[in-house]
Amino acid sequence: MTLPERYDAERIERRWQEAWEEASRRPAAGDPAKTFYLLEMFPYPSGRIHMGHVRNYTIGDVLARFLRARGYSVLHPMGWDAFGLPAETAAIQRGVQPATWTYENIAAMRVQLRRLGFSYDWWREIATCHPGYYRWEQLFFLQMLEKGLAYRKKAVVNWCDQCGTVLANEQVEDDQCWRGHRPVVQKELDGWFLRITAYADELLEGLDGLPGWPEKVRTMQRNWIGRSEGVEMTFAVAETGDAIEIFTTRADTLFGVTFVSIAAEHPLARKLAEAGGNAAAVEAFIDRIRRQDQAERSQGKDGVATGCHAIHPLTG
Ligand SMILES: [Zn+2]
Repeated sequence: MTLPERYDAERIERRWQEAWEEASRRPAAGDPAKTFYLLEMFPYPSGRIHMGHVRNYTIGDVLARFLRARGYSVLHPMGWDAFGLPAETAAIQRGVQPATWTYENIAAMRVQLRRLGFSYDWWREIATCHPGYYRWEQLFFLQMLEKGLAYRKKAVVNWCDQCGTVLANEQVEDDQCWRGHRPVVQKELDGWFLRITAYADELLEGLDGLPGWPEKVRTMQRNWIGRSEGVEMTFAVAETGDAIEIFTTRADTLFGVTFVSIAAEHPLARKLAEAGGNAAAVEAFIDRIRRQDQAERSQGKDGVATGCHAIHPLTG
């Protein structure tokens, strides 16, 4: 037998990929106490694997193979983060059903991932848009609802009349929808929220159990969890009798309060402007502020007087 002149990637790799896949279906040998669950992340099925995926999944696969070689039974699943706004957007653009588009993309990306030879347990593959998967999410949601951890609240969202959808901040460019370049309006809609603040203490304690993580990441997590300790107080509005609840971490500064400000979205904003005789100026201000993105808003210290007065709870 003579060795071929060239490395025939097609033939050789396919043969080994089939052998690996066959092996992955057999129960793992080795020590039952040495198990490892390895999940990199589920890609969004946008249509094609890109180099960011290849890099990320290669790192995970190296680890999976290393652990298997050391006698671990490794669970290395793959699936698809396949629900939501991007699929809806693509479906609108192409005039196809979101399901058709999503499953076609999954099929194309699965072929690509398989040809890369990653050692996934393909027989455990899931897609989050599949009823067999999301029935469990629905069950979790109902349990959170029963425990008071899921609740409804009005929230201000970016809305495009032409598309008839909510837009993520990234889809708004210069106050316009990225798709049709129509103006984006701020609309108040009912939304579902999860009471993650109920877990602030637990999450913070959990961070202490991650000694190997960079301090920068742990700080980011701490900021995101956002627990702070302080006092709550209520300022009454002299003109209307409304109550404004405040929270401060610096109770010692309360005697120095000279004004109370509320967000442009605050349910009292328009009411107080009416009562204070400043409706037109406040309306113009709200309109301007709502068009700003989060970064812009967090920099500014802009405000306009409603014309109403707050009564200091300590000094009257
Ligand atoms: Zn639009």
